[in-house]
Amino acid sequence: MNTPGEKSLWSATAAPLTPFPALRETVRAQVTVIGAGYTGLSAALHLGAAGRDVVVLDAMELGEGASGRNGGQVIPGLKYDPDTLETLYPGDQGAKLVATVAAGPDLVFELIRKHDIGCEAVRNGWLQLATSESALGPIGTRVRQWQARGAAVEMLSAAEVARLTGSQRYYGGLIDRRGGTVQPLAYARGLARAAQRAGVRLFMRSAAIHLERSAGEWRIRTRDGDVSSQQVIFATNAYSDKFVEPLQRTLVAVPSMQVATAPLPTELRRSILPEGQSVSDTWRLLRYFRLDAQGRLIMGSRGVFGDAPLAQAARLHYRAVREIFPQLAGISYDYHWAGFVAMTPDHLPHLHEVAPGIVAGLGYNGRGVAMATMMVRTTSAFR
Ligand SMILES: Cc1cc2nc3c(=O)[nH]c(=O)nc-3n(C[C@H](O)[C@H](O)[C@H](O)COP(=O)(O)OP(=O)(O)OC[C@H]3O[C@@H](n4cnc5c(N)ncnc54)[C@H](O)[C@@H]3O)c2cc1C
Repeated sequence: MNTPGEKSLWSATAAPLTPFPALRETVRAQVTVIGAGYTGLSAALHLGAAGRDVVVLDAMELGEGASGRNGGQVIPGLKYDPDTLETLYPGDQGAKLVATVAAGPDLVFELIRKHDIGCEAVRNGWLQLATSESALGPIGTRVRQWQARGAAVEMLSAAEVARLTGSQRYYGGLIDRRGGTVQPLAYARGLARAAQRAGVRLFMRSAAIHLERSAGEWRIRTRDGDVSSQQVIFATNAYSDKFVEPLQRTLVAVPSMQVATAPLPTELRRSILPEGQSVSDTWRLLRYFRLDAQGRLIMGSRGVFGDAPLAQAARLHYRAVREIFPQLAGISYDYHWAGFVAMTPDHLPHLHEVAPGIVAGLGYNGRGVAMATMMVRTTSAFR
């Protein structure tokens, strides 16, 4: 989704990865995973580590979908608060769902540790900040519900927020200490390397273009090869193409874009996000921001539909930076880039049984760093 010359910050700063080949032969596996973002890579890694023979196919280079372009905020929970989830899914199911989404960040940071993934991981918490007095009520409700479940979530006053962010813009908010940040593309590359070490075969520039049932197995054709397996996992999310049209219709691919400043001067660096938390605010279009390892401020918000040049759309983001951090007026910008977020009508991730032996996991509504990584753990259908 970048136009030429619009390299993302993440692709400019992630350690290089020896490219994976394209599929140019006929192969067999026990499981074929279509899509090499966090959903597909985490599933492949878990399955490979459990001794399954797995092939991963992706239409693009690794991380060119949302997993290499996002804000890298590891956010616990979904849009809905725990009580709402338990009302939507009474009994055991709701409680299990809440426990699963709460454990997403643990899984991310555990995989990073276990597989020694160098991705600038920081676990100092995620802030949700109120842009109006009235937004404090729902934030307080969220804090109380998570605290009732023993989670490390606390309310912050406006003064505490000002100290943690360097911005006077907010009325208060919450800190959820389970959250953190990663360099998202480096995290995706690290998962891919770990999966490869577990025996998984990965093929890039190998779009699945045809699926058929053949001799009791699923046969997936790419332009120059094919793979047959008993099980298939669709992990194509907002980048679902015509090949998975029925899945494409279950979600809306919403553009989101980010800009990154030049590294902040030392003086400003000391007062802006000094403890390295990431932030989402309650502004109607949602703004999210954080620092990278070099001290650049990254600001994200709505992207543009259609063909408007990214450089033009970036002005909205420059304005957000000036509004939240007037002390950054005049700062220069190094990068801007965009990607598609998969939104579902019910704001919940979806797991589909597409056909016997075929499952699909998608629709994280902007919270996929933790949740897409976690998807493999939500159901035995992935195993
Ligand atoms: C700008 C932006 C900012 C975001 N910020 C955050 C954030 O800070 N925190 C957070 O938790 N979430 C965030 N998200 C959401 C998060 O990035 C996603 O939820 C997550 O990356 C989804 O991972 P995935 O593996 O399901 O999909 P993706 O990473 O999009 O991977 C899908 C893959 O499927 C492949 N594919 C599609 N069709 C085919 C086919 N026919 N054959 C083979 N391959 C195919 C694509 O090429 C793609 O690589 C953000 C998203 C964007 C775009």
